Amino acid sequence: MSLKKHELFINGQWVKPESGAYVTITNPANGVDVAAAAKGSVQDVDRAVAAARKAFGPWSAKTASARADYLYALERAVVREREKLATTITSEMGKPITEARMEVDFAAGLLRFAAENTRRLQGEIIPAEREGEKILIDRVPHGVVGAIAAWNFPLALCARKIGPALAAGNTIVVKPHELSPLSALALAALAQEVGLPEGVLNIVTGDGPDVGVPLVAHADVPLITMTGSTPAGKKIMAAAAEHLKEVRLELGGKAPFIVMEDADIDAAVEAAVSARFFNCGQVCTANERTYVHEAVYDRFSKSLRARMEKLKVGDPLHESTDMGPKVSLTELEKVDTMVQKAVAQGATLELGGHRLQGGAYDRGTYYAPTLLSNVRHGMDIVHDEVFGPVLSLLKVRDFDEALKLANESQYGLSAYLFTKDLGRVLRMTRELEFGEVYVNRGAGEEPQGFHHGYKNSGLGGEDGQHGLEAYVRTKTIYLNA
Ligand code: NAD
Repeated sequence: MSLKKHELFINGQWVKPESGAYVTITNPANGVDVAAAAKGSVQDVDRAVAAARKAFGPWSAKTASARADYLYALERAVVREREKLATTITSEMGKPITEARMEVDFAAGLLRFAAENTRRLQGEIIPAEREGEKILIDRVPHGVVGAIAAWNFPLALCARKIGPALAAGNTIVVKPHELSPLSALALAALAQEVGLPEGVLNIVTGDGPDVGVPLVAHADVPLITMTGSTPAGKKIMAAAAEHLKEVRLELGGKAPFIVMEDADIDAAVEAAVSARFFNCGQVCTANERTYVHEAVYDRFSKSLRARMEKLKVGDPLHESTDMGPKVSLTELEKVDTMVQKAVAQGATLELGGHRLQGGAYDRGTYYAPTLLSNVRHGMDIVHDEVFGPVLSLLKVRDFDEALKLANESQYGLSAYLFTKDLGRVLRMTRELEFGEVYVNRGAGEEPQGFHHGYKNSGLGGEDGQHGLEAYVRTKTIYLNA
């Protein structure tokens, strides 16, 4: 049986790639090829940017309410197609179907927030030095936005950029990740169905060098928004410097998860496990290093281990599965190498630490939920992003030590604290060098929040009113009769 071929979405049409080539998308849960996606190239990027540029004038001239109506229609279509979209997400990158549904809901929430706020991009009026003059600071769209996404939330990461970009009056060219382009293409089909004007949204599938690089370099794309790894983000920023264009980068993380002696231990264990094993650990906000106060360390680790032993790893389409496969063999091998290195550096392997094999596991790329204890600050696993199902336990003497170690990181995206002491909470919110702090709860940001990393975790931020404002720039007008 021949695979379904997905074309590029340019100017409201499905078009063949100039290269004539397609890339096979394989389900990491069972090794089955699910579809083929067009292999885009610089010529396709040029076509897409030209279409987006042509559409920009009429789209940005529409009233804010008219743009909102399109976004509401798209949101409704996403909600209607929840099950189909969730299945697409699961089949292209392997997350459990229950989590894929949550991703669809989050994507819908992001589109809804964008629709609700098209009329909230307000300007300013400033008193002038000349009689009769008014100084206006208007907020205007950038033009064509170039959006580049990672594979771990293939639908939501695209919706997170498309919603606010379009709400603010920009048009957009999206490059999904080469491993997982199908959800973004499904979203484009819904945009076509709801009648989004031609050229407002364009999708060019393909890899970083062929599509991402020319998109970043394109003279008619003044703003690049990218979600992905820190090394790729740095390359994009360097390339963007050449053209003096604005970049927003949502990059890697190494979240500390701090549990103090006065915490609700059961709640902390539950949150530590979900923040580590959700999406097979492939989340930028994941619990990458768990710091536990020595007074509760033994109780916490015993309960943690028992909870981890209950995790069901298997077919992500089964309703009861807690964890699916790693997205690819390369990613699985990267994680395994990090675990073996941690053990060589003195960590104790309590659980897992190997690829799962036998039966249905042999067809996919499954890694066992892994628990490392006796992890110490000098080990590489404490500093490098694992992005996999590996929980590292570190014992701390007190809150000061936890805070100090948490901050000794190149990353600064998310952090977690479990305690009942308000003084500690206040100190943490002041002193922790992270853009997003979760107090007494697990992971999961909201569309109306602001998802923003410090240091090597990025530059810019997404969601909420601050995220929306990234998609406009100011224009100052000295107004006289
Ligand atoms: P990646 O950097 O390999 O790829 C991300 C995207 O960038 C892909 O579409 C890729 O094709 C493209 N790309 C790569 N090199 C490029 C270049 N030189 N020019 C233009 N485009 C280029 O990352 P990934 O493996 O897809 O994602 C995993 C990473 O993403 C992790 O580090 C994770 O923490 C991070 N992430 C961050 C957030 C956040 O909001 N901060 C969210 C999700 C994932």
